[in-house]
Amino acid sequence: MKAIAVHPGVENSMHLRDVDEPRLEDVPQGRGVLVRVLRVGVDATDKEINAAEYGDAPDGDDFLITGHEGLGRVVEAGSSVPSNLKPGTLVVSTVRRPGMSIYDRIGLQDMTTDDTYFERGINQRHGYLAEYYVEDAEYVVALPECLREVGVLLEPLTVAEKAINQAYEIQRRLKVWRPMRAAVLGSGTLGLLTTMALRLRGIEVTCLSLPKPPYLNSNLIEELGARYVSTQETSVAEAAEEFGPFDLIIEETGFSPLVFEAAEALGKNGVLVLVSVTGGDRKAEVNSDTINQGFVLGNKVMVGSVNASPDDFRTGVDDLTKATAVFSGWLEKLLTTRVEGLENYEQMLRELTENAEAIKVYVEVST
Ligand code: BGC
Ligand code: ZN
Repeated sequence: MKAIAVHPGVENSMHLRDVDEPRLEDVPQGRGVLVRVLRVGVDATDKEINAAEYGDAPDGDDFLITGHEGLGRVVEAGSSVPSNLKPGTLVVSTVRRPGMSIYDRIGLQDMTTDDTYFERGINQRHGYLAEYYVEDAEYVVALPECLREVGVLLEPLTVAEKAINQAYEIQRRLKVWRPMRAAVLGSGTLGLLTTMALRLRGIEVTCLSLPKPPYLNSNLIEELGARYVSTQETSVAEAAEEFGPFDLIIEETGFSPLVFEAAEALGKNGVLVLVSVTGGDRKAEVNSDTINQGFVLGNKVMVGSVNASPDDFRTGVDDLTKATAVFSGWLEKLLTTRVEGLENYEQMLRELTENAEAIKVYVEVST
């Protein structure tokens, strides 16, 4: 079968290749689920993998099949696979696989303390940009058929869900935490989905991003009943002054100096969640006394969040389903850029690297 792969460590090595079709028996004890891939979304992580800045091949292979945002349909299920994953079911499989730490052993590999983590399509495990894949039922999530169009957005949404769920989990310390106002930094796919998830929870959201409105992303933010602010016109501090205090700030721009502006602008008892994987070595001068004092006197929290747990996938499916009703037609508008078939991987890369207007670039693998 066909697959899109890279040679990790070799710049610009993305290519189409022929690989063996996976078999149900590749997963032991009848727990295998054979999935036909429908759609796969791509993001900045894929860009970095092709730029040889990130990612690794599985042991024994010199290539990595990429793609970690996969939507598919079950073709065949092993004898001990639960009935909610019967053939025909629409599914998304999670990304990270367990290593050795105690967190991995209780199913929280998103919280691993191991130095190496295993992620399908990213690090040491083949991904979903192929015609088929096989997975252990434990990592396969069933979706209702109403998510056929937008289910490809589940994986990026789970990254937002984890950030939000972690904030609530941490804020249990406050016994009566009722977040009223949040700021989302960034208005790409992740910023849009985070804003959506917060709006579904009834929170007033200000989304800050570089481009000046109006344009597609700022319109999409406003369609959710949230506020869009350009950081070219209003700083994070000014936005907090005018639209805060922010009980929750989620940073996902990929521009790390903003973290410290956000830390300074965060409201008392607030929580700042960092989601950007910043691979560079940028340095910034920060108002260290002010930030430190604000954190101490205001009992503030800053926390990092990566990947997603099974619970985040559950809330993700719930939110996608709710959103199709509450914000009818909105999720479809995120699917701006469709690439027909695995053969067109070069176009996929071009859209990903050169099309500044694209929100979600995805490959239609089969229909
Ligand atoms: C993926 C996450 C992953 C992270 C770090 C993101 O693009 O969506 O699932 O944990 O990259 O590799
Ligand atoms: Zn991703």
